[in-house]
Amino acid sequence: MKAERGGFRPLRREQLFQELVHDSYKAGHKLHEPTRCPECGAVFQKGRWTWASAPSGAHEEKCPACHRIHDKFPCGFVSLKGDFFRDKREQILQLVKNHEAKEKAEHPLQRIMKIEDTEDGVVVTTTDTHLARDIAEALHNAYKGDLDYHYNKEDNLLRASWSR
Ligand SMILES: [Zn+2]
Repeated sequence: MKAERGGFRPLRREQLFQELVHDSYKAGHKLHEPTRCPECGAVFQKGRWTWASAPSGAHEEKCPACHRIHDKFPCGFVSLKGDFFRDKREQILQLVKNHEAKEKAEHPLQRIMKIEDTEDGVVVTTTDTHLARDIAEALHNAYKGDLDYHYNKEDNLLRASWSR
């Protein structure tokens, strides 16, 4: 397959689970345990970020999600468009937000960064490719429509386009 602008390649849905790599937006050094993010309060313990409360004396360092938000550098993009989307916009965006809330409760690094209007719909940006994929799959499960993925593996950026 030929690379597209920005290093994106089309990706079949069934390839996604093998292809998506874990967030490469990590500290360039090994984090102390426990470490608490001063922005959102997430705690890094036993190799993962959780919403557990931090023991006193925890180190402080921004989590990868807060880093991305601070740098305005999303790694997931879900575009939503089409007449059906325009008609049911509020209901559909509510599904997107509910999905994020559910994921974020378990996985502190899975967050929506922004929901922005575009010429023909909206783009939802996320701090993690997995959340972008899960939102796109949730839309497709709920409403069908057309869904495709483009992935830039080098930079771990996922673009999902859903339309109906
Ligand atoms: Zn944080």
